[in-house]
Amino acid sequence: MEDFMIPYKGLGLGSHSFEFEIDDKFFEGFEYFESEQGQLKVKLELVKESSLMDLHFTIDGRLELVCDRCLGEYSYPVNGAFRLVVKYGEAFLEESEEVVVLPITQSRLDVSRYIFEYINMLLPMKKEHAEEADCDPEMIDKLNTYSKQEHDPRWDALKNIEFKK
Ligand SMILES: [Zn+2]
Repeated sequence: MEDFMIPYKGLGLGSHSFEFEIDDKFFEGFEYFESEQGQLKVKLELVKESSLMDLHFTIDGRLELVCDRCLGEYSYPVNGAFRLVVKYGEAFLEESEEVVVLPITQSRLDVSRYIFEYINMLLPMKKEHAEEADCDPEMIDKLNTYSKQEHDPRWDALKNIEFKK
């Protein structure tokens, strides 16, 4: 993801701002994600110091999720702020969730992976319409009937047989 590469070696000391647009295409780059559609803006404030970089991400937008109750799509607002401290060292190392060490030979940082992780952390535990009244009542009915029926495919096959007298 070339758009998400920060060429930090070439940056002067001090503060730098970046902005990223996240859309459906972004999520296609990752193997698995709860939502296939979304529109988010990510602002990144990067402060470069001589020995480290301090990154502040602000995420704001919405994702289309599928309601577990009625299987309808709904829009979910996503907002959050995250911090990442980048230090330089011998080899790549994740010291903690917030601190990462990059090899001194490296010159660019791909922030797409971090943004993806942050968005994942902002997903709700339960994916459903906020109010049950927002759910599709017809679909709920159908799902209820369906789960009540003991579904046996052999039974369906029998139903299609017409008995000749
Ligand atoms: Zn619903």
